[in-house]
Amino acid sequence: MKKLCIALVSALALGIVNAEETDLVVVGSGGAGLSAAIMAAQQGKKVIVLEKMPIIGGNTLRSEGGMNAAGTLQQLEHGIMNDSAMRMSMDAQKGGHYLNNPELTLTLAENAKDAEAWLLSLGAPFCHRMGRGGGQTAARGHGPCDGSAVGQSVMKVLYGTAKKIPTIEIRPLNQVTELLTKDGKISGVKVETKGKDKKDYTIDAKAVVLATGGFGANAKLISSLRPEYKGFATTNQPGALGEGLDLAKGVGATFVDLREIQAHPTVVPVKGILISESMRARGGYLVNNEGNRFVNELQPRDVVAAA
Ligand SMILES: Cc1cc2nc3c(=O)[nH]c(=O)nc-3n(C[C@H](O)[C@H](O)[C@H](O)COP(=O)(O)OP(=O)(O)OC[C@H]3O[C@@H](n4cnc5c(N)ncnc54)[C@H](O)[C@@H]3O)c2cc1C
Repeated sequence: MKKLCIALVSALALGIVNAEETDLVVVGSGGAGLSAAIMAAQQGKKVIVLEKMPIIGGNTLRSEGGMNAAGTLQQLEHGIMNDSAMRMSMDAQKGGHYLNNPELTLTLAENAKDAEAWLLSLGAPFCHRMGRGGGQTAARGHGPCDGSAVGQSVMKVLYGTAKKIPTIEIRPLNQVTELLTKDGKISGVKVETKGKDKKDYTIDAKAVVLATGGFGANAKLISSLRPEYKGFATTNQPGALGEGLDLAKGVGATFVDLREIQAHPTVVPVKGILISESMRARGGYLVNNEGNRFVNELQPRDVVAAA
């Protein structure tokens, strides 16, 4: 008994508290994070999703226009027979001035159809949207049949599904501050809670998925990479600061293409409210102060933005 007490006292004195354990930690609760969590849980894994913001959903919740996918059943129902993953990938390549990694754009394009079908199977009320988006050679937008914003619908379906799975736990106001390693492998995460009961803790995990989104709200980082964007407002959620880059850098990651940032052509200036692509896809014209059109609205985003 005496020995046990001494051991306990020295453990407390050293601040040793056993870390929590799980199969998978997902960092970020946007579309990518919750999709990964659901897929893993469906394969019997115990998942903890950590989100630094008070609300879940990240930029996914702000996504307005539609979800692109080629070769879907809904396209066929609308008579769009000429679309394919290769075509979608080539459109993305062209829009990105052939700077994109072709293998990755093809992976995205090849999987988009199944991703859309998966969301439909979870209950997403998605239809095909007529009208080509900027830079597209076929109409491949999909979204809620009532024309409402796509992101809120995606998050409603993903969150609704995740909530029903007992092996998924979602923790808002929990920011991952470090990826932990053991024997050269990722072994867990260090977390800082942000509510009034602030505390730090660690989780041991067999795997960690980084789904921390982008850095569109980090004006300092953007202007250091692209000085010409200094002073631009953002349409991103305030938490899109790019801490995921720091986490990855902490375990030795290096980066490519960070400078490849696109400005969106249609926003409410200063307020940073986005007027979606679908406005142009459905036939909207852009006019200048004299009421004249000044660009082909279906050009790729950067061309329209520059004009
Ligand atoms: C206004 C707007 C409109 C858009 N419209 C469209 C559209 O019509 N079609 C389309 O395809 N795309 C659109 N997009 C882009 C699309 O929303 C994103 O590409 C997509 O949502 C990214 O999903 P994600 O899960 O990777 O990241 P997010 O949804 O941004 O999720 C990342 C999450 O990680 C959290 N996080 C970050 N760091 C940490 C940390 N250290 N610890 C814990 N949590 C952390 C963030 O707070 C965030 O909640 C739009 C984007 C914006 C801003």
